[in-house]
Amino acid sequence: MELKIIGSSSAGNCYVFDNGRESLIVECGISFQEVKKAVNFDISRIVGCLISHEHGDHARHVNKFLDARIKVFASMGTINALGIVPMYEKPKFYPIGLKANAKQTIGNFMVLPFSVQHDAAEPFGFLIHHHEMGTTLFATDTCYLAYKFSGLNNILIECNYRQDILERNTDLDLIPQAQRDRTMQSHMSFSTCFNVLKENDLSAVNNIVLIHLSDSNSNALDFQKGIQEATGKTVHIAEKGMTINFNKSPF
Ligand SMILES: [Zn+2]
Repeated sequence: MELKIIGSSSAGNCYVFDNGRESLIVECGISFQEVKKAVNFDISRIVGCLISHEHGDHARHVNKFLDARIKVFASMGTINALGIVPMYEKPKFYPIGLKANAKQTIGNFMVLPFSVQHDAAEPFGFLIHHHEMGTTLFATDTCYLAYKFSGLNNILIECNYRQDILERNTDLDLIPQAQRDRTMQSHMSFSTCFNVLKENDLSAVNNIVLIHLSDSNSNALDFQKGIQEATGKTVHIAEKGMTINFNKSPF
């Protein structure tokens, strides 16, 4: 199993779990054309697409995915907020509603959605299990995580900003006060990410991927070094075009 990062920023988010036979997409904030390239134009192997919440950088291209008859999964709050209306005249796939803490099978993937804290209708994070990769935690756009997880093999977690960089940019009027406040209430800081990772059992974790870094309020090298030193794990900063081996036994 590989993780392919198609986008991981406020410009657009999209992640592909792919083993060459089946693919699960997470987020559709990037054009479907890019996703097609990631699966070598074999869209029949896409078993589904999860959406965490309705914001454009995570869901902007949902209609193109539905037009391609991809099964899209999200909370009912997200589906309603996206304003997708079932089209009865021209049959079109309609998103499938997920419930928090209720497992959903998608191909050979098992997905457990859980609630996160973000300024959206009903945002979810996901535990994603596949026998080849074990269990992956996916959590983005949340100011903290209310749950502890066990048995994780890979982690994708938002590491959006660092408080001192955010304050400096606010003081310099590079970002407005309202944006500072919104960032703090809806995105995960480096220190929260650090604490979440310290509080969870990482003994079986192969990869920690820091996702959705702010363009202006983060420092990728410092974040990578800080989390690597704290956890002793392989830490990646998500970048467009990156592919990471997500097999449970990487060797
Ligand atoms: Zn958002």
